[in-house]
Amino acid sequence: MTLDSATGPATVLDAWRSRVADTPDRPALAYFDAVLTVREVDEASDALAAALFDRGVSQGDRVGIYLQNIPQYALTFLALWKIGAVALILNPMYRNRELRTLIDDAEPVALVCDEHDLDSVGATLRGSSIRLLVSTSGLDLQTRDDPRVFASTSRVTPRPDDDLMGLIDRYRGRSFPEIDPEPDDLALLAYTSGTTGPPKGAQISHANAFATALDFGERAGLDDGDVVFAVAPLFHITGAMLDAAVALIRDCMLVFAHRFDAAVTLDAVVEHRVTYTIGSITVFNAISATEGATRAHFESVRALYSGGAPIPPATVAAFESQFGCYIHNAYGMTETTAGVIAVPPGVRAPVDAASGSLSVGLPLPRVTLRTLDPSGRPTPPGLAGELEISGPQVVSGYWRNPDASESTMPEGRLRTGDVAIIDEHGWVYLVDRLKDQINVSGYKVWPREVEDALYEHSAVFEAAVVGRPDDYQGESVVAYVSLRRDATTTPDELMAFARERLAAYKRPKSIHIIDELPKTQTGKIRRAVLKPVPVKNNSIESGTP
Ligand code: AMP
Repeated sequence: MTLDSATGPATVLDAWRSRVADTPDRPALAYFDAVLTVREVDEASDALAAALFDRGVSQGDRVGIYLQNIPQYALTFLALWKIGAVALILNPMYRNRELRTLIDDAEPVALVCDEHDLDSVGATLRGSSIRLLVSTSGLDLQTRDDPRVFASTSRVTPRPDDDLMGLIDRYRGRSFPEIDPEPDDLALLAYTSGTTGPPKGAQISHANAFATALDFGERAGLDDGDVVFAVAPLFHITGAMLDAAVALIRDCMLVFAHRFDAAVTLDAVVEHRVTYTIGSITVFNAISATEGATRAHFESVRALYSGGAPIPPATVAAFESQFGCYIHNAYGMTETTAGVIAVPPGVRAPVDAASGSLSVGLPLPRVTLRTLDPSGRPTPPGLAGELEISGPQVVSGYWRNPDASESTMPEGRLRTGDVAIIDEHGWVYLVDRLKDQINVSGYKVWPREVEDALYEHSAVFEAAVVGRPDDYQGESVVAYVSLRRDATTTPDELMAFARERLAAYKRPKSIHIIDELPKTQTGKIRRAVLKPVPVKNNSIESGTP
């Protein structure tokens, strides 16, 4: 297949169509004991496209995908693009207000969710823009029902009109007006906390997605015949692009295994002879702590990548001595359509002597980097500055938010909020973050969001949330609260309160009740001071988030 940015396809869908024409009988998706060929995937996504179109989804409409990593994710991507609709990727851990906020901003007309979530999602989305709920199940398309990922094998009997696989059966062979999305049309809406304020939808165009799929895949050495394991969640841009899109545009089999489980992942790698994957460093930590994990599990693997969060050089070294596989670092943001800086395969990233930071890699070919001092002037090689990125992967802006677009990506050059050093050979090292964001296993948590949830408790007077270094997750969320006069509560009670309001990874790992929070003279809570604060008083540690 010809993949060339100048003469070849211009969108992931174009490249997929060439694949259908060239190699229809090759395997495209695998899921436990199921394998679907390119033709089967194409026909199923045609049927789903026809069903969605028939039920009122049209060009430019957003459709939420609220699923774990299951093959229906890829079927839905293709179906939506075939009718010119936009995939709104949503974390299925989001609950109630977290989900509703994004829905109200993106205004999707439909949502695809797990059948077990139908009731709660239906209640949360009452009165929203959603007109159509399509449910599906991770149990579909496979017969193994592995208890390590499926807590139950019970099915909710879906209404025939709601069930994704049922719709595919009913609409098989039906025609619909096929669209050829323009490169600048929206392919994906992916929410990020951005640097300030409420979550923002990064507008990922078909051209952005194809640039990433093409250039990152080339950087990682992907070729026809590779087997790609979707270990990063597809609701995050890393999984959607660097696991799914890179595979969809090539003659590569894309392997799914539902939600992450280290032992299941290892079995899938061996069973399907996986050659490449990218996940967060937590995935690799979990694998190295898995009983029975050996070098033999990695025999077929050619390139492993980790992105989204800092990697301690010692972790890379320990993983390599345990399994014989070097973990390649990759850097990107939702606003850069995932990885734009990465270590070439077979090359070892250098470590910055002064900061001890492992390089995130070299920029992809069409990416331009600069580091800027606080007044916006470029800093010379070797001197730290805010990283600025331009290239075909940088999104045009945020959904319905021209002010934030203008301040974050003036003239298409993205101000990342990350402080970096670029050495004279082009290697990039992240040395600091301008943002207050906490990075829990690659998931970004904004302190404000957790604080807002705690503030909803009637006993809470003030709250401050900070990140604490954590060997396993990189950072964990820690909350400090002071109480209203005469109010009483316990860290346990606050923890239970937070649990109802926040996705698991955002929940504080510990909550400390202290008399008063440290403040600046103007009364602003000083989060930075809290980071190393030794706490006496009341505190508890919760289990894993
Ligand atoms: P997101 O938009 O969720 O992908 O988050 C992007 C942010 O993740 C970046 O601005 C960085 O702060 C952080 N990040 C991404 N990749 C890396 C990496 N390889 N090492 C350190 N931090 C990273």
